[in-house]
Amino acid sequence: MDNEVKRIPCKNENCNKTILEATAKKTGGYCYPCYNAIQAKEREEYIRKNRRHVDLYEGISDPVEIIKIMHMDKKYDPLIKYINYPKTKEEMYKILSKDDVDRLKNYAMELYKNDNDKWEQVLLHLVCFNGTDIDDCLKVLIDDCKIYEPSLFKNASDDIAELLIEKLKCKDDRVSINHILISLAMIGNDRVVEVFNEWKKNEPEFSKNLYVKPYEYSVEGGWKLDSQGKRKNLYYKKSYGIKEGIAPKDNPVKFFEKQNKKCEWCGRKLTSLFTIDLHNKDMQFLGLTGDKISISTCDNCTCYGYIYTDIDTNGNAAWSKYNFEPEYLDTHDEDKFEESNYDKKIYLDSNVKSEDYAANQFLDVKFTKIGGMPTWIQDAEYPKCPKCGEEMMFVGQVSREDLEEYGEGTYYGFICKECKIAATGYQQT
Ligand SMILES: [Zn+2]
Ligand SMILES: [Zn+2]
Ligand SMILES: [Zn+2]
Repeated sequence: MDNEVKRIPCKNENCNKTILEATAKKTGGYCYPCYNAIQAKEREEYIRKNRRHVDLYEGISDPVEIIKIMHMDKKYDPLIKYINYPKTKEEMYKILSKDDVDRLKNYAMELYKNDNDKWEQVLLHLVCFNGTDIDDCLKVLIDDCKIYEPSLFKNASDDIAELLIEKLKCKDDRVSINHILISLAMIGNDRVVEVFNEWKKNEPEFSKNLYVKPYEYSVEGGWKLDSQGKRKNLYYKKSYGIKEGIAPKDNPVKFFEKQNKKCEWCGRKLTSLFTIDLHNKDMQFLGLTGDKISISTCDNCTCYGYIYTDIDTNGNAAWSKYNFEPEYLDTHDEDKFEESNYDKKIYLDSNVKSEDYAANQFLDVKFTKIGGMPTWIQDAEYPKCPKCGEEMMFVGQVSREDLEEYGEGTYYGFICKECKIAATGYQQT
């Protein structure tokens, strides 16, 4: 019997595998793993030598054209490295002239007619970064019943509110009614406040299948009706974003610092989402006097529910007696929790932003911020103060993406100034 298969060693001296002669013929004497590694290396080398830098913005100075390119899907090609434009989308949208804005609106509506869903991105950025009035576009969307993105309605007028209220009368599916009510909450102007008050007094016909009362949708727009039926905001109009890097001296906010006090559920040390220097003039909009406040959380446990802390204006934050441990938090074993590696450095950017800056998760920005509207990933959730029962005020949020390479989800911080209680919550996709 001479059919024993002959095997020869792999040509790579550092490899101890043997291969069939037939394999050797195909691979030049290497085992498959070595062969593949060589091929990959050659490919990498080839890409490195032949990669071109492509500047799609070369020779273009028209901001509208630049923005169009920014929104464009760039074809993936390993041999092409696209050069980023030196300004951000936010910066570009801010410098648009009236004429530029009109051209971009027309461009968005052209995309819309051609079923290219990029239209929504362009309009969203116009509304949130430029404060553009897009009533004419909204009329088309309402006509077509394309009422999906409530943030587009932020700057809408009474006329648009009226059209939406009219639409409610002919809708009976919960999803459509839901979208229309959230959009009205986003508009949140006098007309909307008026109609929400009416619905509070007399429950309307369309609300029979809803899970919450129509007027309670206002929280989706960051406000509620107070006892006099007036609009009361649950967020601050002013806001500040962040930049990456080491904080300059006198930066008013410290993000994500470990505290001495512990979480009474899991035993880990509390983390301050942010500690805010109340002496700093930029932070006066919070309306708090004192030294500093710290809004603290347990970065592990707040995923299970709100965590309340008793705070003062000397920067102290202590576990509140109002915390009730959720049943499904089943362990106190600290070893079970992997310590996260928050290695990215961030600091507060001193440029004032509008309330809409970073107010929608589909905007192209960093989401960690102080003030402004929260960026909800799920439904709007303003915790109620456990002491006085009022909705708490949104102070700021920290996106884990800004702290660590593969971080996800956002921590939200709230306060009740009257009761000196803070709360934190968490949402993720
Ligand atoms: Zn080998
Ligand atoms: Zn905990
Ligand atoms: Zn309270």
